[in-house]
Amino acid sequence: MERPIEIVIVGGGTAGWLAALVLQDATRRDGAPARITVVESSRIPTIGVGEGTTAAFRMMLLGLGLDEFEFLRETEATVKLGIRHRDWRGDGSHYDGPIDDPHRVLRPPAGAPDEYLNVYAVGARRPLQDMHLFGRLMARGGAPWARGPEGRPVALGPFHYAYHFDQAKVGRWLRVKAKGVETLDATVAGLERDGASGDVSALALDGGARISGDFFVDATGFRRALIGPMGARWISYSDALPVNRAMPFWLARGADEEIDNFTLARALSAGWLWKIPTQARDGCGYAYNDAFLSPDGARQEVEAALGRPIEPRNDIKIDAGRVDRAWIGNCLALGLATSFLEPLEATTIHGTVVQLSLFAARALAKGGGVATGFRDEYCRRVGRQVDDFRTFVNAHYMGGRADAPFWRDVAASRVHAETRARLDAWRRATPKPADFEDCTLGLPHVGAELHYPVLDGLGLLDPAVAKAELAAVPAARAFARKSYEALSREYRAAARLAMGHAEFLAHARGAA
Ligand SMILES: Cc1cc2nc3c(=O)[nH]c(=O)nc-3n(C[C@H](O)[C@H](O)[C@H](O)COP(=O)(O)OP(=O)(O)OC[C@H]3O[C@@H](n4cnc5c(N)ncnc54)[C@H](O)[C@@H]3O)c2cc1C
Repeated sequence: MERPIEIVIVGGGTAGWLAALVLQDATRRDGAPARITVVESSRIPTIGVGEGTTAAFRMMLLGLGLDEFEFLRETEATVKLGIRHRDWRGDGSHYDGPIDDPHRVLRPPAGAPDEYLNVYAVGARRPLQDMHLFGRLMARGGAPWARGPEGRPVALGPFHYAYHFDQAKVGRWLRVKAKGVETLDATVAGLERDGASGDVSALALDGGARISGDFFVDATGFRRALIGPMGARWISYSDALPVNRAMPFWLARGADEEIDNFTLARALSAGWLWKIPTQARDGCGYAYNDAFLSPDGARQEVEAALGRPIEPRNDIKIDAGRVDRAWIGNCLALGLATSFLEPLEATTIHGTVVQLSLFAARALAKGGGVATGFRDEYCRRVGRQVDDFRTFVNAHYMGGRADAPFWRDVAASRVHAETRARLDAWRRATPKPADFEDCTLGLPHVGAELHYPVLDGLGLLDPAVAKAELAAVPAARAFARKSYEALSREYRAAARLAMGHAEFLAHARGAA
């Protein structure tokens, strides 16, 4: 291509600005920098509820050469080490899902099951989170950093963690970092399409202006202003995902209160409550089903659960699902324009990061242009990825809670066929990486390691099966037992060295 490819991104939320940065970086690396414009509408607000991410976001941030401490300072983000799931079995219990994977730091004997540490812990009925650095830190509080020489923080382990943040602040910071990207404040009112190919040739903007381009990214959130008119069909997940409404609110935090290093996901009578701390406050919300609870009832239930009044900020309707094709012609959909399930397990921003990485690695042609030959495969892989998120999230509701009509309805009519098939299979044989297609070509995805804490926490795995599997490989069993004990000891000791979370964030702010 002789002239730079012109990419027009519509939407200035997290998805739009992440796209601008990743596509700019990728086309520069390929030696054919794209001309990128972000069209965002000051008339249409972004979504913003207090978001949790996955480790993929941090990996991308560092991969783009951005300064983590500056990010923490400017966006008031906090560290997320996992999710604490409370009351999902209806008995007041909780389980933690730390996001580090201890298997990565050890070399097991030949023949050991891929998930031998998890298999051992399930079979021996030992707490899974104890062999996780992040599990120990979730139990004790603190950041995954210790005070090093001269007070400088030293990372406590090799694992990537995630963040909690307010996406509006992150969007603004990413915008500042996207130097060289042009911006336009306008509302897209329609598409002009090439008669022969059906591709978008230009976007009609309010006020009569237009903007042309070679490739277009739809990051317009729930409006799907480009991919919708291009013919994308919405595939609903309402048969499996039971919440259809969200009531976000902020909670102030006392100056002396420590900042949680985990997302709290607390099940209530008709859904669940999230608590996501930023440096300034806790972003909270009740994701529920309005067939079982009115908005007034939701508010009353939350106030009773928290023991304090709340001020709902919004009333968001959730239509869980995904588009059937995330890339049509020369238009790629990202973020909420591609899919939204519900907040559990923070799948949306994760999906955006992975989809962008996949697109940049496989679809941007060296020397400029977009390799459209990858389009159908991309759509299939993204569809599979989001379907896996659906099945994973659906499994969280299978802990046997039956104390309210919502939970009885979930058990009776919201179990997806794939969830049922997987849960049945995992009662007979423990989950393995091979149970999941590598739809993201080696990029982070929900796999066996993320399932273990959830399935074990909900009582959906059979310890006798796990025990028998490991007993069949005696060397692996002995290694797993020794390693579990050693990691457990080591990480308990490491957690004692951890800086306080607020202390670490204060340091990061000062050091940036
Ligand atoms: C209740 C709730 C909880 C959530 N929790 C999480 C979570 O914990 N973790 C997570 O990963 N994700 C979560 N999400 C999703 C997350 O908020 C989004 O994925 C993320 O903020 C990115 O949104 P976006 O950029 O796709 O869309 P938006 O933030 O909606 O941005 C859309 C942009 O498009 C622009 N726009 C729209 N139409 C037009 C038009 N016609 N012309 C020009 N511009 C236009 C708007 O001005 C805006 O800039 C949650 C979402 C909801 C609803």
